[in-house]
Amino acid sequence: METKNCQKCKKDFVIETEDFNFYEKIKVPLPTFCPECRLVRRFASTNERVLYKRKCDFSGADIFSMYSSDTKFPVYDKDIWYSDKWDPYQYGMDYDFSRSFFEQFLELQNKVPRMSLVKQRMSVNSPYTHRVDDMKNSYMVFRTTRGTDSMYVYIAKDILNCMDSFAISDCELCYECIDCDKCYKTRFSQESKELRDCFFMHGCRNCSDCVGCVNLVNGQYYIFNVKYGKEEYFEKLKELKLNTVSGIKSMEQSFEEFRKKSPQKSTITLKSEDVSGNWFTNCKNVKESFWCINIRDGKYLFAVFDSQDCMDYFQWGNSCEQVYESENVGLNSSRIFFSTQCWMGAHDLYYCHSCPNSANCFGCIGLKKGEYSILNKKYTKEEYEIIKEKIIKQMNEVPYKGPDGIEYRFGEHFPNSLSDFAYNETAAIDFFPLTKEEATRKGFRWKDKEKKNYKTTIENRELPETIGDVDDSILNEIISCEEKDSEYSVGAYRITQDELSFYRRMDIPLPRACFDVRHKRRLVKRQLPELHNRNCSKCNVAVKTMYGESFAPILYCEKCYQQEVY
Ligand SMILES: [Zn+2]
Ligand SMILES: [Zn+2]
Repeated sequence: METKNCQKCKKDFVIETEDFNFYEKIKVPLPTFCPECRLVRRFASTNERVLYKRKCDFSGADIFSMYSSDTKFPVYDKDIWYSDKWDPYQYGMDYDFSRSFFEQFLELQNKVPRMSLVKQRMSVNSPYTHRVDDMKNSYMVFRTTRGTDSMYVYIAKDILNCMDSFAISDCELCYECIDCDKCYKTRFSQESKELRDCFFMHGCRNCSDCVGCVNLVNGQYYIFNVKYGKEEYFEKLKELKLNTVSGIKSMEQSFEEFRKKSPQKSTITLKSEDVSGNWFTNCKNVKESFWCINIRDGKYLFAVFDSQDCMDYFQWGNSCEQVYESENVGLNSSRIFFSTQCWMGAHDLYYCHSCPNSANCFGCIGLKKGEYSILNKKYTKEEYEIIKEKIIKQMNEVPYKGPDGIEYRFGEHFPNSLSDFAYNETAAIDFFPLTKEEATRKGFRWKDKEKKNYKTTIENRELPETIGDVDDSILNEIISCEEKDSEYSVGAYRITQDELSFYRRMDIPLPRACFDVRHKRRLVKRQLPELHNRNCSKCNVAVKTMYGESFAPILYCEKCYQQEVY
């Protein structure tokens, strides 16, 4: 065990004995940033859901892109980017041992074209989606695998007809759901599984026709965990008026009070052992991690599945091994270090950016099937190995000094000053929210949001209470957002035909805020990915949990929760 002081936040952090083994195995020095600053650094280099309209710099066509139109580097439509119409090796540079590595990388980074959006496999009628694969008829869906007829969703898998949700899987006709799995026609629910026709549920499993329940298993016709007869249930449901804006608002309040009086399980796990963090399925020996499925031996992972022996890794997995300090790496990739956007069998990459299917590269950008390359210049295998070792040595002798005054040597991920994005364009703003002033003080860039200069035609408070009172003319209106002055709001929004059909089908009133505000509200309903040391409210055993005191006043350890609830 060794205690170190973080270069970024100046707080102490601990490197455990088993961490040393991993660093030794992959031949990297000890980190100099604490785990949280490393996580923020990874988050801050990936734009998840902020899209811009701009020109493709190859064809001139109008495209949607994760990059705004003022980037230093060219941006190509993703199909052109993947094609043979251009050659990333034409930007190759000789390595200059008198200059720092990151300085040279930045020079390359400002020249090489980037892919406009990240999309894989089929994409049918879903132009406004990003970091997705197999999408059909979807709009504003991000970070999703297999989505159909869905809108305004962030992080999902196998969804059909879902709206305004966050972190859901195998769901159909769900609305305002967070961390839900295998649900059908469920609304305003969180951390629940196998629900049908339910409203306002938390920590429930296998329930149907229930409202406002917490920790309920195998229930039907329950309201606030009280069982009713079938007819009585539907009468009471009617009285709650959950198809009106005021009914939803008052239910939201009473449900939140009720939830806080119920115990919260300290860690959400399924078939997992030896884990710390939250949301594990089929995991073994995974520490300080969040959202992991089928992982063996991992630490500091965030949203990774089907992988093993990885550390400091944000998204996504699918048969990956020995990925360290990287993000957006997946699909049969291995030994990926300090890299971003490398997938499809990529292996043995150091400091690479957008190099799918590449192997044995160091400091390259935009190579497709690249090999034995440094700064986009190709070498023989023997030359590559010699120069690579020389650069690693030189990176320690000639460190890069970031604008934040921090020295970056070999073993550090890309400095945030090299990120393609401003802090508030990235995942960092969602999981570690900062104001413009805070972000700037911490050395991150900030992009002032353009308020849509819409001339609104209707105020949100003028909208009818129920969807039944809305006619098709709403499709022509520009509605003011109820939080139009907040920094998250774009100011105004419109309702699309598909959206209107969904609200009608589900009997849901029109939203009163723009997507960005709705997204922000969902984030607030969850806890931040940080672990707190607390004690079980029943047996007093020490637990590590992401649930803070104010969110969950009553916290149960796994054992007590099993005894009392399941
Ligand atoms: Zn730190
Ligand atoms: Zn306990």
